[in-house]
Amino acid sequence: MMKVLICDATAQSALDMIAEAGIEVVNKPAITPEELLEEIAEYDAMVVRSRTKVRKPVIDAATKLKAIVRGGVGLDNIDVKYAGSKGIQVLNTPTASTAAVAELAIGYIFALARNIPQMTISMEEGEWAKKSFSGTEIAGKTLGLIGAGRIACSVGQKANALGMAVVAYDPYVESAEGIKIVALEELLTLADYISLHVPYNEGTHNILNADTFAEMKDGVYVINCGRGGTIDEDALFDSLKSGKVAGAALDVYTEEPSMGHKLYTLEQVIGSPHIGAGTVEAKARVGTEVAKNVINVLKG
Ligand code: NAD
Repeated sequence: MMKVLICDATAQSALDMIAEAGIEVVNKPAITPEELLEEIAEYDAMVVRSRTKVRKPVIDAATKLKAIVRGGVGLDNIDVKYAGSKGIQVLNTPTASTAAVAELAIGYIFALARNIPQMTISMEEGEWAKKSFSGTEIAGKTLGLIGAGRIACSVGQKANALGMAVVAYDPYVESAEGIKIVALEELLTLADYISLHVPYNEGTHNILNADTFAEMKDGVYVINCGRGGTIDEDALFDSLKSGKVAGAALDVYTEEPSMGHKLYTLEQVIGSPHIGAGTVEAKARVGTEVAKNVINVLKG
């Protein structure tokens, strides 16, 4: 019987689907790197999310492995090229979390515009600070998207429906419905909100930095539900301190996990611990796609 090792938390419905297809499922969502190295030779496929790293030593030890299936979008935690050179297929679930991440980014636009988290904290502290909080409206404002892929386009379409003008910078995309593709320089000068939806790569490393912050409108808001490493966090800190950037909402960070980050000493920074894809619905979709990928590779 073919065997699949589940290395990170995966929906029970996915494990059931795989088992029903006649594949033995071994669920070890807390497996350590040492245990993984020892045990991986027994398996035909492995399922990971972000926690488990699949680099050369694991791949070398995985003598029977046919597939590495990642529940999620990026493949940053897997040495895809090396796996490919050993004939191992690497598959992910690229569309399953699009809606969840897009909705979080839209949620952050509202939260920033109306100071929703800060007002909640004030209420919890027993205040009635009606005069301290003045909001702005998002209708009529311009949203600048860095990246014009699946998630960015979904954010752009929702923003359009909310009355925002939408521009995007993406050197690999020529056109997108309801979104004007522009040069980065133009986006920086036009946008009231800048939302990042790019992978981390050479071209996106610290794409927001001291120089690009300087080009932005005064009082711009910045949102990152994409990948860490795309914002120079020291430059963002300085731009928030000076008031150039009015507020920032962050789901991803240069170093993760990120506890006690200095950006959170600023009350105009709001955020979350990389949970962009963390909805019930997205987790279920990720599970179904993971199961289908495993079954397709092992059962054809
Ligand atoms: P996608 O591949 O559809 O879109 C990414 C876009 O980035 C592409 O259109 C690509 O051309 C563009 N791009 C690449 N390099 C660029 C550069 N140098 N400058 C500008 N654009 C560039 O991916 P997606 O599904 O839309 O996901 C977008 C990002 O969101 C990914 O980084 C993904 O890892 C991240 N993500 C985060 C979460 C989360 O939990 N916060 C969940 C899912 C995805």
